Amino acid sequence: MRRILILGGTAEARQLAARLAQRGDLAATLSLAGRTANPAVQPVPVRIGGFGGVDGLAEYLAAERIDILIDATHPYAAVMATNAARAAAVAGVRLVALRRPPWTPVAGDRWIEVADVQAAVAALGEAPRRVFLALGRKELAPFAAAPQHHYLVRSVDPVEPPLAVPNATYVTGRGPFTRSGDHALLSAHRIEIVVAKNSGGSATYSKIAAARALGLTVVLLARPPLPAVTAVTTIAEVEAFIDHAAPRAERDV
Ligand code: NAP
Repeated sequence: MRRILILGGTAEARQLAARLAQRGDLAATLSLAGRTANPAVQPVPVRIGGFGGVDGLAEYLAAERIDILIDATHPYAAVMATNAARAAAVAGVRLVALRRPPWTPVAGDRWIEVADVQAAVAALGEAPRRVFLALGRKELAPFAAAPQHHYLVRSVDPVEPPLAVPNATYVTGRGPFTRSGDHALLSAHRIEIVVAKNSGGSATYSKIAAARALGLTVVLLARPPLPAVTAVTTIAEVEAFIDHAAPRAERDV
């Protein structure tokens, strides 16, 4: 049985785990950071929490005799992706990244692409706007510097403490979302501008489609740079990588 560690926290990681769970020749474990209070049920054994940086992950890979490391984290989880690349090199473990291609604009999209959250705050302008923030809880704090806007914040878990602005409304929800649902949400809150990450994939594209249908501007945060490792975009390609990777014993001789 070859031993696989999937770095997860995404729908694709869960789908990959479900696929690998059907195989009799692999033992897969899924790793979650532990950010959400009630993580989704997973089809393989789960470990939760950080490893303690590159050294901690390298030690885990060795101790658990992991043969193949699969980085299926979110495209904005750049620290984990970088740690995975370094730890795999240290531990001599094969690594493949499952990466979602970014969304690309289509006719009718009104996108402003910005480098970071601070630039997103600036892109909202001085005049009060009604803003939908589809960002993680840890990215919200800079919006306190622009308290003139009305914010609608959607997150998986409640935002605690709330954003330090006078006008903010919170909704919780876990993708996948629907176009009709997001259209209704943006309309009901009279949203004028959307701030989001270019996450790629289908689970959270609905807000982009809804914004297009409503003629709204979308401020998109640029993706962070990720390490140059073997990367694929489909679960089938991950399986092909696993099937062609030499077993650890062969590589060690
Ligand atoms: P990050 O900044 O790249 O990682 C920060 C630290 O969190 C890592 O150094 C690691 O701690 C720990 N960590 C991250 N992913 C982990 C995993 N799968 N298993 C164990 N430890 C993990 O990550 P992030 O942006 O905060 O994202 C955290 C998790 O949420 C990721 O698993 C990601 O897939 C998921 N997620 C992120 C986003 C997003 O927009 N960033 C969106 C959806 C889901 P140690 O150094 O101690 O090992």
